[in-house]
Amino acid sequence: MNQIHLIVDLSLISNGTVSHRTGLPLWTTVLVKPVLKLALGHWPTEQTCLSIPFFWYRNIEATMSNNTSHLLEDAQSRMADIYERLEVADDSRHRLGQPKRIHQASLSVRMDDGSLRVFPAWRVQYDDTRGPTKGGIRFHPNVTEDEVATLSLWMTLKCAAVDLPFGGAKGGVCVDPKTLSRLELERLSRGYIRAFHDVIGPDRDIPAPDVNTNAIVMGWMVDEYAQIARQHVPGVITGKPLGLGGSIGREEATGAGALLVMDLWAKRQNKEPHELSVAIQGFGNAGQNFARLAHHAGYKIVALSDSQGAIYSEEGLDPEPILRHKNRTRELKGKVYCDDSVCDAAETQTLSGDELLQLDVDVLVLAALENQITDANADQIRARTIVEIANGPISTGGDRILQDRDITVIPDIVANAGGVIVSHLEWVQNRMGDYWSGDTVKKQLHQRLEREANACFDLAGEKSVPLRTAAYLQGVRRIADAMSQQGTQGYFSDANG
Ligand code: NAD
Repeated sequence: MNQIHLIVDLSLISNGTVSHRTGLPLWTTVLVKPVLKLALGHWPTEQTCLSIPFFWYRNIEATMSNNTSHLLEDAQSRMADIYERLEVADDSRHRLGQPKRIHQASLSVRMDDGSLRVFPAWRVQYDDTRGPTKGGIRFHPNVTEDEVATLSLWMTLKCAAVDLPFGGAKGGVCVDPKTLSRLELERLSRGYIRAFHDVIGPDRDIPAPDVNTNAIVMGWMVDEYAQIARQHVPGVITGKPLGLGGSIGREEATGAGALLVMDLWAKRQNKEPHELSVAIQGFGNAGQNFARLAHHAGYKIVALSDSQGAIYSEEGLDPEPILRHKNRTRELKGKVYCDDSVCDAAETQTLSGDELLQLDVDVLVLAALENQITDANADQIRARTIVEIANGPISTGGDRILQDRDITVIPDIVANAGGVIVSHLEWVQNRMGDYWSGDTVKKQLHQRLEREANACFDLAGEKSVPLRTAAYLQGVRRIADAMSQQGTQGYFSDANG
C-alpha cells in the first residue's frame, strides 16, 4: 500500500483547529496524542513525522492543508527587487527560480527494540554554477522539503556573497533525534549517506553539520562514504572530527565569524564591546561559541535561551559555566546531545523565549531556527541591532517592519558565513593532504570575512539599502555573472545577428 509521509502539527490538535474543521468534539481529537504514543512507542513532539496509508492521508489532507509552509516562496519574494536593481538576465532569474535538483529518500532504521522506523530525508542542490554545492544536514522533527529547499537557496547566496567557489545545497531528515539512542542515531546517519552517496562527493556536493548534527555525526557519515567508495574521501564532508580530516577551528567558526562581523559593525558605530548589551536566542553549536567568544571580547551577555527557556541577568552572564552545566548530562552519559537546559544552569532570572526576543538590548542575536521574528511579533522587538546567526530567522514581513522601525539587521548570509568559510578551508586541506595550524585557519577566515563583510557594509551605504539587500546584491551579482559567462539568451541572439 502507498505510504505518505506526513508531519502532524500537534498544536493544531491542542488549539482545537482539527476539532473545529472536522466537526469532531475536542475530547476525541485530544486522544490523538496518547494514540500516537501507543503507535510510536514514545510521546510525540509538537510536530511529528508519520508514515501513513494513502487513503487516510486523503481524509486528513484538507484539515492540515493550511499548515503547508511557504518558506521558499517567502525567500524568493526577496529576490525580485535584487534582480531589478542588478538588471539580471531573464535566463539567470529562471535558473535561480527553483532548485536544480531535489533528491528524496525514505530512510529505514532498525530500532534497538527490533522494530523498524522510516524517516523522510532530502538533499536539495539549488545551484552549482559557481562550483560543487555545499550545505549542512539538519535532523529535526519540523524538516520538510520546502525548508530544505529554502535553506539550499540561502546557501547558494551565502557562498556567492563571501566569494567561495561553491554552489548551495542542504540536507535534512524529519526526525526528533533526541528520542533515538546513540546506536539508532548512528544507523540513521549512515543510512542518510547510503541513500545519497551517489549524488554527493568532493567535486559534486559537500555536506556539513547543521541543527542537531555535529562532528560525531559527520564522522559516521564520512566513514560510511569511505566504505561505499572503498577509499578515503575526506573532502566529501566538512565539520568532521580532527582525527578523520577535520580542520582546527571549524567547530567555533560560525560563532567566531559572527563575532568578527559584529565587531566590524560596532566599530563603524563607534561603539566599544563593553558598551553593548547582548541577548542570544539559541545555545547550540553556533550560539554557544558566539556567546563564549563575545563574553571574552568584553560584550555584556545579559540573556541566553534554548528550546526549553531563557535566562536573564542585568549584570551579565558568563556563558562558560552555563555551557559546562548544560553539557553535564552528555558528559555523564556519553551521549551525543545534552538533556540539560540553560534554565537549569544558575540562580538567574528565567524568562520565556518570547520575553527574550523583546528585551531592551543593544544587540539581539538569533542563533536557533528560521521564522523567529515575523509580522506577528516584529513590532515588539526593542533591540537596536539584530545579528542573524541562524538561517532565515526573520520572515520577509518581519524584515519590513524592522526596517520601518530603523532596527539594523546584519543578515545571515554574511553574519553566519564563518562556518562555510572554514568548511571551505577544511575541504582545501583535505584535497592538499596537508593540515594547517589554528593561526593559519583563523587568519584566512578573518581575511575573507572582513573583506566581504566590509564590502557589504560599504555597498549598503553607497546605495542606501538595508544590509540584507546589499548582501544579496553582492551574492546574486556573482552568480548572475557566472551564468552569463555560460551564455544567455542575449549572448546567443547577438551571435546569430
Ligand atoms: P544546534 O542544534 O547546535 O543548536 C540549536 C539551538 O537552538 C539549541 O540550543 C536549541 O535548544 C535552540 N533552539 C531551538 N528552538 C529554539 C527556540 N524556539 N528558542 C530558543 N532556542 C531554540 O544548531 P546550530 O548548529 O547551532 O545551528 C543554529 C542555527 O545556526 C541554524 O539556523 C543553523 O542553520 C545556523 N547555522 C549553523 C552553522 C554551524 O556551523 N553550526 C553555520 C551556519 C548557520
